[in-house]
Amino acid sequence: MRFSNARSEQLPAYAVQRIATAKRRLLGEGRDVIDLGAGDADLPPPSVAVSSLATAAGDPRNSRYAFQTGLMAFRESIVGYMRRRFAITVDPVAEVLPLIGSKDGLAHLPLALLDPGDLCIIPEPGYSPYLGGTILAGAEPLICPLRPENEFLLDLEGLSAEQLRRARLVILNYPNNPTAAVAPWDYLVHVVELCRRHEIVLAYDNPYCEITFDGYRAPSILEIPGAREVAIEFHSLSKSFGMTGWRIGWAAGRPELISALLKVKQFLDTGPFLAIQHAAAATLDVAETLLPSIRETFRERRDAGVAALARVGMSVVPPKATMYLWVPLRDGLASWTFAERLLEEEYVAVLPGASLGAGGEGYIRIALTVNAARLEEAATRIGRLLDRQGRGP
Ligand code: PLP
Repeated sequence: MRFSNARSEQLPAYAVQRIATAKRRLLGEGRDVIDLGAGDADLPPPSVAVSSLATAAGDPRNSRYAFQTGLMAFRESIVGYMRRRFAITVDPVAEVLPLIGSKDGLAHLPLALLDPGDLCIIPEPGYSPYLGGTILAGAEPLICPLRPENEFLLDLEGLSAEQLRRARLVILNYPNNPTAAVAPWDYLVHVVELCRRHEIVLAYDNPYCEITFDGYRAPSILEIPGAREVAIEFHSLSKSFGMTGWRIGWAAGRPELISALLKVKQFLDTGPFLAIQHAAAATLDVAETLLPSIRETFRERRDAGVAALARVGMSVVPPKATMYLWVPLRDGLASWTFAERLLEEEYVAVLPGASLGAGGEGYIRIALTVNAARLEEAATRIGRLLDRQGRGP
């Protein structure tokens, strides 16, 4: 018997899963593991989310299927948040779709849009479901490197006329995981113009737009002139509000793109739990009161992490956004080997850059998931491993 198919066989190993398995074993052995691997911070969810979930869970109407329409109040809260935050107006039905986390929409969009032979332009290093969704749709990934010399901006100008002709979808993610880069306004204007010219759908993955520092404000792609013709944007409550496990987010954008995703999702799931949609609505309604302290927590962690790494000889430019530090390794250190030794010998989990595609080699990603004291302890352990490596294997 065969237990896979040509598409699933093409999928690479899912890095965060591999680390989670090793971490479970080490915890079972009683080790003090510091997990800076997955982008899953230790922040509690907002109390407004918890109390509205509790109330909504007690109402039997919320135990019914949500279907794709879901809760109108959640759609209205999304509209209100996007109006206040980005000064854009979206229609709650035609231009918004609730998602079971933004991963749901990102991974399924290629199924809705791409045929075999179509190209999907994917940044590398990048969030793994871009590649996974494209492979599962039977389309062809066109991997484009994010390079430090380009400020980690995807360079679409470098593509050939034939590649641009075959490309039907490009996925962009700024503020970026894992490089923590942000996209200048002019760059986004340029990308939108190119997508319109070549009739390429622009999927803009924006889960880190609220985790910004030093006065930087991350835009919505829908603010860019002309974007509403070509773009669909993905948002999430996961990172902004400490709600990763709640699985709630949304897509917003051109009605035809929302309908295409909705059509596919009708056959895959029945929408997020209605009680969670109530809680998400209540959270978005007061987003502005919650976000300053969440941002401040990540800023403190960023500064503590950058300073602690500098102390052990690793230099990182403090990022303007995201919950990640993208840390270059000393020449010649392979990121998987480094990350595996760090976990097995010092019990610190980080993401090897190469796990997010070959373009990530030479870096590790540190997620700011724990407080400043734990980040300092993690840096001390990293320093110990570097000292040992300096003395040879
Ligand atoms: N996009 C990026 C770039 C991410 O890093 C993540 C999570 O790590 C997601 C999307 C998915 O977030 P969620 O499905 O929790 O909304």
